[in-house]
Amino acid sequence: MKPVSAIDLYKATPRTNCKECGFPTCLAFATCVIVEKKPLESCPYLTEEVREELGSRIHEQQSEGVYVKRDLYKITADHIRERIASHDFSAIADGLGARYVEKDDQPHLSLSYMNRDCLVSKQEIRIDGTPADNHWDNILLYNYIHFSGTEPIRGEWIPIDNIPGHIPKKPELEHGCEQKIASHFEGKPDRLERAAGALGAQQVEDESNADVALSFLPLPKIPFFLVFWDAVPEEGFEARAKLLFDRSVTSFLDIESLVFLAERFADTLIEIDENGARA
Ligand code: SF4
Repeated sequence: MKPVSAIDLYKATPRTNCKECGFPTCLAFATCVIVEKKPLESCPYLTEEVREELGSRIHEQQSEGVYVKRDLYKITADHIRERIASHDFSAIADGLGARYVEKDDQPHLSLSYMNRDCLVSKQEIRIDGTPADNHWDNILLYNYIHFSGTEPIRGEWIPIDNIPGHIPKKPELEHGCEQKIASHFEGKPDRLERAAGALGAQQVEDESNADVALSFLPLPKIPFFLVFWDAVPEEGFEARAKLLFDRSVTSFLDIESLVFLAERFADTLIEIDENGARA
């Protein structure tokens, strides 16, 4: 049986965009039900017949992985791979801080990604010799290549607020990176320094009385500057962390990929702290 698409479900809604389901439009509701498994019952205006018939078909297709987010990521990764098919790797390597390599008569870019060796061809990405199976890693790295940035690193740190399109992404950066680092390393700045050192980050001078200030290159032309202030319980201050970016960052990545990279950075620091090394 043909799977139920977001459009099929949209057509079954009253299409009044009344927002009672918590979504701004009926189409947004339909997309989130199909892709993110939001409950069909959130719309009180679907008929019993629609709920029963479409509900069981949607449940069945989701258990088979049809249309769910995982597939969308794969589709996006495949789309970006197509877009870089015509890129001349030898011409863009320098600008990206990568090395051009020919292997099996195919062009490749060799670069460091989260302090790991990454080899990118137009067909696949290998990280430390293993195919990258996370679609987000693929999307991020192909995006970096697609941008084909050439700007030099400016050495001027900016917050996410100075990056176009930051408004919906700022909370993700705070929750997925800054607050995560702050709460995990609260009372343990020495462990943050150790984990960061193991990842290849460098301690830097900072004038903001931070307990830890360090810079890290998750990608060759994308430096991060992390500042951490430990909690001061007697003064009622909780631990805080702030991540800053070089002013040139928008030449190298879109904000979505950048926030993903920041979340990866936080998760890796915590992983190293908990396991003594990366898995
Ligand atoms: S509650 Fe139903 S009709 Fe109202 S916006 Fe949501 S999907 Fe559309």
